[in-house]
Parts: sequence; structure tokens; C-alpha cells
Amino acid sequence: MIAGLLAAAEAGGTLSVEEGAALLREAPLFALGRAADGVRRRLHPEGVVTYVADRNVNYTNVCGCACAFCAFFRPPDDPEAYVLSEEELDRKIVETIAAGGTRILLQGGLHPDFGLPEAVSLVRAVKKHPIRLHGFSPPEIHHFAATSGRTVADVIAVLREEGLDSIPGGGAEILDDAVRARISPRKIGWEQWAAVMVEAHRQGLRSSATMMFGSVETAESIAAHVLRVRALQEETGGFTAFIPWTFQPGNTALSREAGFDDAAAGGFNHAVGYLRVLAFSRLLLPAVPTVQVSWVTMGAKVAQAGLFFGADDFGSTMMEENVVASAGTVFRMTEPEIVSVIEAAGFRAARRPEG
Ligand code: SF4
Repeated sequence: MIAGLLAAAEAGGTLSVEEGAALLREAPLFALGRAADGVRRRLHPEGVVTYVADRNVNYTNVCGCACAFCAFFRPPDDPEAYVLSEEELDRKIVETIAAGGTRILLQGGLHPDFGLPEAVSLVRAVKKHPIRLHGFSPPEIHHFAATSGRTVADVIAVLREEGLDSIPGGGAEILDDAVRARISPRKIGWEQWAAVMVEAHRQGLRSSATMMFGSVETAESIAAHVLRVRALQEETGGFTAFIPWTFQPGNTALSREAGFDDAAAGGFNHAVGYLRVLAFSRLLLPAVPTVQVSWVTMGAKVAQAGLFFGADDFGSTMMEENVVASAGTVFRMTEPEIVSVIEAAGFRAARRPEG
């Protein structure tokens, strides 16, 4: 049965959630990897692994959502709460450009006072510089709309007009409301996440899609998530990349919950589980051009192995990273290190022209 499912997925066929879960759980690791590598070779026969030189700027850590998996947010009255000033933002962008960076990844908490005018100010502050802006995940766009009494379509149109270049796929976690009810009950549901992406793609903005796994989900939830992204991609064609990454439990409410077991979390929160999920994603998302490794959560060695499990992109140089670091996971890689890890695996490294 598993061999049949693997062959069907390898040939580009879709699976049911139950079939996907069985494949993810039971396929021999290297058979899964070899099949995903076949899809990667078909889509990227030139043997190039891309990356982008960028900086991850978080404009505020104030957030009313209080997701149980998040170590980054602070309540508004917390001594560590911050909102980046325009001068600080400016300094970070100037530094990024001076260091050869070509993109700012701009994301923040759902600050109760932040609406469309504040988002427009942020876009203007970035786009007065010659740099690409990848910003505002679906929960943020939804929040700007809600606090400003505007529609999601209006917010996207205005931000796009101001120069927003593309949208990060954050806030997806697991696109399954039963899992979201446990790990992010105040955040938008999976259908609202999808609706923001469909509208952004309709307006011509491209985006990535992410998946945070290794918390309380099952193999079925992971399969459902990947199949939902697949269906959305069939509808819009607007996802440029898929980025699965593992839950980092340090300093989170979820890890302090009675009965939560790091080691057992979801069954996939370890190097082998990560490689399984990476390969599964590559196999089941043949219409998404790129699958990225997450060296920020897995480290350089596992990320390098990921290049043989379907990934064709090394993510970004992340000159600054605060969200994963808040959970105590601090991997750092310079651009020369990224290039050397890619080349040591036998690929040619190249900066990604966009996104
Ligand atoms: S994950 Fe995002 S929405 Fe949730 S608490 Fe953290 S900053 Fe807020």
C-alpha cells in the first residue's frame, strides 16, 4: 500500500488526508527522500540551490493574541514590550543595504493600536530605500483591516500601491482549526488565512506558505495542511515557496502545559521527522516551485541534508532574527557559510532574484 501511495505522489497525483498521513508515518525514510529528490530534480534540473540576503525586522512584539507556541510576544504593559521607531527601522535598513542585503522581511505582533495607517507608514519607511519588502503575514493583514474598519482587499490594495512586494506565509502554523484552537485560539482560522492569500494572489502579490509542526498536531493534521496549500495553489498559482519548520518549545506557554511532552510532540519534532515532513511536502506540492530548508530551527547540517529530501532553497541569511531566538534556538549563518554548505553538498549556490 505505501509503495503504491509513494508512486502515485511521485507521479504528481494527490492523496486523501488518511493516505497522506499513512505515507508520512510509514514510508521508509530514504524511499520518501529519493522520491522527493526526483521531484526536486524535475523542477530544478540545473542543480542550483538559492537563498536571499535579508534581514528579519520585527516592528513590534506587542500582541494581543498570546499564542501558546509563541515566545516572542509581550503584553502592551510588559517592561520588554517595544515598538520600533522610524529612526531604528531606518538604521536597520541602511545597515542591511550596506551589508549587501536585498530584502527586508517585516513582521510584527498584532498591536491593538496598529491599523492601516501604521502599516502604510512602515511600508513608506522601508520603500524610501532601494530594497524589496516582503511583509505582513495574513494575521497582520487581517488585524489591520479589523482595527481600521476596512476590508482585507482594501488593505492589500493600499499596501501594494505603497510598494509592498510580497507577503510571507506566516501565521499558518497548522491549517486545521482543531490544532489552532489548542495552540493559537485567538488567531484567525485556517479559512481566513487562506482568504487573505487568495485575495493577495488575485491582486498580483506573490507569497510563501509556511507550516509550523512538531507541537500538538498529528500526521493527519500535517497532511491536511499540505493538501490545503496544494488546493489553494491549484486555484491561484500564487505561492512561490513552501517553508516547513519545527515548533521551538523554549519559553512558551505550550511547553509549560501539563501533559505536553517535547520529545513526543507530534512525533516529528526531530531531525528525521523534519526530513520526512520536508520530503512529504515536496512530493505533495508539485505546483509550488520551491521548498525551503529551515536552518534557523534545524541548524546547518540537517538543513544541508534537506537538500537531498526535496528542498532547493536555503532560505535567507537572516542578518537579524528575533522570533525563533526568543525560544532559545540561536543558529547563525553568514552568507559565505550558506554558500559553502550548499557547495559542499554538490550544488551551485545562487542568490534568489526575488521573494
Ligand atoms: S505568533 Fe504572532 S500572533 Fe501569535 S502571539 Fe506570537 S506574535 Fe502574536
